[in-house]
Amino acid sequence: MTVDDARALFLAIAGRAPEGVWSSAGRANLIGEHTDYNEGFVLPFAIQHRTYAAVGMHADLRIRVASTFAPDPVELALEDLSIFDGPAGDAVTSGRVPEWAAYVLGVAWAALAAAGRTAADVPGVDIAIASDVPVGAGLSSSAAIEGAVAAALNDLWALELTPLELAKVGRRAENEAVGAPTGIMDQVSSIMGRADAATFLDCRTLETRSVDLGLEREGLVLLAIDTKVEHAHASGGYRDRRAACERGAAAMGVPWLRDLTAADLPRAQELMDDVTFRRVRHIVTENQRVIDTVEALAAGGPRAIGDLLVASHASMRDDFEISVPELDTAVEAALGAGAVGARMTGGGFGGSAIALIPATSVAQVTAAVEAAFAAQGYTAPVCFTITPSEGARRDE
Ligand code: ADP
Ligand code: MG
Repeated sequence: MTVDDARALFLAIAGRAPEGVWSSAGRANLIGEHTDYNEGFVLPFAIQHRTYAAVGMHADLRIRVASTFAPDPVELALEDLSIFDGPAGDAVTSGRVPEWAAYVLGVAWAALAAAGRTAADVPGVDIAIASDVPVGAGLSSSAAIEGAVAAALNDLWALELTPLELAKVGRRAENEAVGAPTGIMDQVSSIMGRADAATFLDCRTLETRSVDLGLEREGLVLLAIDTKVEHAHASGGYRDRRAACERGAAAMGVPWLRDLTAADLPRAQELMDDVTFRRVRHIVTENQRVIDTVEALAAGGPRAIGDLLVASHASMRDDFEISVPELDTAVEAALGAGAVGARMTGGGFGGSAIALIPATSVAQVTAAVEAAFAAQGYTAPVCFTITPSEGARRDE
């Protein structure tokens, strides 16, 4: 799916060419897992898979959206964007708009509010979406669609929002219009990514910094290993881990685990039960690993971060207990085949691992991972390279 697919869909629904095409990227997380809701640090990057929005204005005061993924267009009068003023997710659960369209219409609603404008201030628009970000694969197709639409409306409606404000618009659309409680990491990395770089985000201050990865210079690539294990326990496990983090912070008398460092861990161990302590230790050490990764990249380049990736995986496996045998197998097989580093990525209980490997070893590492899965009788994994790429942009 490309610019041309979005253009073609636009032509089909609007009978004319769009004013332009905008896009934003999917994302993966290099390091910093479950730290976001503890007001900690994350280091995600935008990937080459993108979502495109072909958009044109018209005189009707209506907003119309279509996607190659759900070709029946959805239409709403601009003034009816106020349906999203109600309780979070209400416009979807009450059946007023299909869930997928709430991502797009919700961005229009949140963008106007963020810019201090009303539906009466802007012309109607047609929006056609095409995407090659796999949905629900942990690569954040939701942030990609939000980022593409936010970038398009920011330009066409002259809203003058900054990239960080556009990321907040995406999060608000997802939280309030769709009704999905998420942080801001996905939107920040989708929108603010740069080629061969990751985006450092401080989830407390929302300070962001682009961090050069230097993969091209060092002849390295990132391999995604999709274990095909569904996140069966993900929502229960996520709730449980969040609760443990809150419990740990309360026991230590701090608002968030972000406020602790490694020096606090001996006291934490005395104050809480073993499980809560290990959850706390993961967050505290993972925050430090994000900082250390940023420093190691600057000082020694990407070959210097291998041990941090491996330590992050061990912490998620042993302390946070969110890995599964398939993810451990993927990491071990990749390391055995010469990966510089590897770790599970995302919320856990399934999903994908990433491995930092020489560009010349893609076939070899893929074969080693496939063989290890076959030997264990696991479903065959799917391996593909993910390239740190540019975030939101206007394509034409
Ligand atoms: P992900 O991990 O991929 O972000 P989410 O559940 O957060 O998974 O978001 C996926 C949802 O986003 C889809 O179910 C759909 O509602 C919406 N979405 C994503 N991409 C598209 C698209 N190209 N067209 C229409 N809706 C999309
Ligand atoms: Mg998502």
